[in-house]
Amino acid sequence: MDVSESVKTDVKTANGMVVPGTFRVIAGPCTVESYEQFLAGAKAVKRAGFEYVRGGAFKPRTSPYSFQGLGEEGLKIMAEVSRDLGLKVVTEVMDPYHIEMVMEHARVLQIGARNMANFSLLKRVGAAIAGTDHGVVLKRGLSATVEEWLLAAEYVTSSGGDNVVLCERGIRTFETSTRFTLDLSAVIVAKRLTDLPVIVDPSHAAGRRDLVIPLSKASVAAEADGLIVESHHEPQEALCDAEQALPAEALLGLREALQPFASAMGREVL
Ligand code: PEP
Ligand code: MN
Repeated sequence: MDVSESVKTDVKTANGMVVPGTFRVIAGPCTVESYEQFLAGAKAVKRAGFEYVRGGAFKPRTSPYSFQGLGEEGLKIMAEVSRDLGLKVVTEVMDPYHIEMVMEHARVLQIGARNMANFSLLKRVGAAIAGTDHGVVLKRGLSATVEEWLLAAEYVTSSGGDNVVLCERGIRTFETSTRFTLDLSAVIVAKRLTDLPVIVDPSHAAGRRDLVIPLSKASVAAEADGLIVESHHEPQEALCDAEQALPAEALLGLREALQPFASAMGREVL
């Protein structure tokens, strides 16, 4: 099937998460580690003026011996903190059996790179969010083509869930100086083929905090609709993805760094 024929539809906004003419920043820790840790991280997101906080309760770790996340307890922590601070939560769902539970506690469900081709999960998430205020962030698979990524999005949309945001998060290449290779061409190509918003995750792409702000600026220029970045109030102590976490106090600097690029593109940073 020709993706350009099948995906092109109305402009989607993921129920307000992506607003035309703006550039949405989602920030927060890779993983919820404790109430205190998530609260400190979320307060920094709020101080920087961002409205969406990320955090993982169910983590797709490469090793089964790594910290797997706090599960339902992590969801409850995110729900409580975000309610108190007036933020909206973006968090990953890995298992079809957890969809309802995740929807109870979070506004946006992330489908991770390792699950992009989990078609039964995609269909069940699409059906579950249909007619609700919930959105989906669909990460591109580690070695998925743009066409495969867009067709994965169609599994969600054709099941009823039309609030899908695509997320480029780097692909596997021969390069070893970064964790993955951020494929900004894919952002541009995807935006030409679909009206689904496209955001960028520079944190997982680079795997290094020193590249996160430069790649974020480049994402604005590549016409991305936003970013999802990892930040931590004590980056060196993070239980997951410590090397790529921006210090929480750097989020204000991220906003300031993005502003001139966003203005040049006619967008307001949200
Ligand atoms: C994450 O966002 O923490 C994550 C695991 O992302 P990805 O699925 O892109 O690796
Ligand atoms: Mn992570």
